[in-house]
Amino acid sequence: MVLAQLGGSISLALRQMNDATIFDQKVLNECLNNIARALLQADVQFKLVSDMLTNIKQIVNLDDIAAGHNKRKIIQQAIFKELCKILDPGKPSFTLMKGKPSVVMFVGLQGSGKTTTCTKYAYYHHKKGWKPALVCADTFRAGAFDQLKQNATKAKIPFYGSYTESDPVRIAVEGVERFKKENCDLIIVDTSGRHKQEAALFEEMRQVSEATKPDLVIFVMDSSIGQAAFDQAQAFKQSVSVGAVIVTKMDGHAKGGGALSAVAATKSPVIFIGTGEHMNEFEVFDAKPFVSRLLG
Ligand code: GDP
Repeated sequence: MVLAQLGGSISLALRQMNDATIFDQKVLNECLNNIARALLQADVQFKLVSDMLTNIKQIVNLDDIAAGHNKRKIIQQAIFKELCKILDPGKPSFTLMKGKPSVVMFVGLQGSGKTTTCTKYAYYHHKKGWKPALVCADTFRAGAFDQLKQNATKAKIPFYGSYTESDPVRIAVEGVERFKKENCDLIIVDTSGRHKQEAALFEEMRQVSEATKPDLVIFVMDSSIGQAAFDQAQAFKQSVSVGAVIVTKMDGHAKGGGALSAVAATKSPVIFIGTGEHMNEFEVFDAKPFVSRLLG
């Protein structure tokens, strides 16, 4: 994972700062510039990086830090705090309650890993004693229902979809109603993706959302989309009320910075990351340990 490189570059910048015999503004600027370069190379949006630098410089005014205080430590803490701030929007995603029916709608572009992630999410909760179910409201992509059906069968999760019905809203509503009657407590609705952000896709998402009234909308994003992450995430957020993000393909060559941008664009936390094609290659995401690892 290229994130390790980002972590390596950031910790190297901090180490160089720690090793400097005389600690002055020049050393600090050099350290911050190295960190900024590492973040930009990892595809974190330019504005996020420049805002972060401004904030750190405001917190860390070397002239104001009284003698005797450990300046380097104060700087490290400021960097840690700012990185956490980018990844942690300050509000948790909607908390699902076991035993109480919740509807979770998945949105994202085609190929982002949405359908795979729906099953991983269902499987993760199934293992924890929930009663999840999957609804395939993707009538756009040929084979979407078969893929979901195959995944669901493998994971022993009930599913709903149709080969003949072309109205995604109808399928979504029917599926949600059926699984509510069957006392499922986590009803997952997989929606259509498109190759690019299109008005028709967003309109369909809005309609499915209005009809099923999801408790949580999860935006699934491919971590390899790089600098496009911010705009893409923002476009989804403007159409439906995204409440959480799942970043996929973190096992690949992705630089991972897109995750930071998606959080900033949707003001929603990353809740899981996808780390492979298999059902259990799925990890809970927590900002603080993630940043601690980055800082080494
Ligand atoms: P959708 O069009 O958004 O529903 O995307 P799919 O779920 O069909 O996934 C597209 C491709 O990405 C498939 O080949 C998946 O196996 C693969 N994929 C999904 N998530 C991950 C992941 O976390 N890591 C890797 N390596 N591949 C993934």
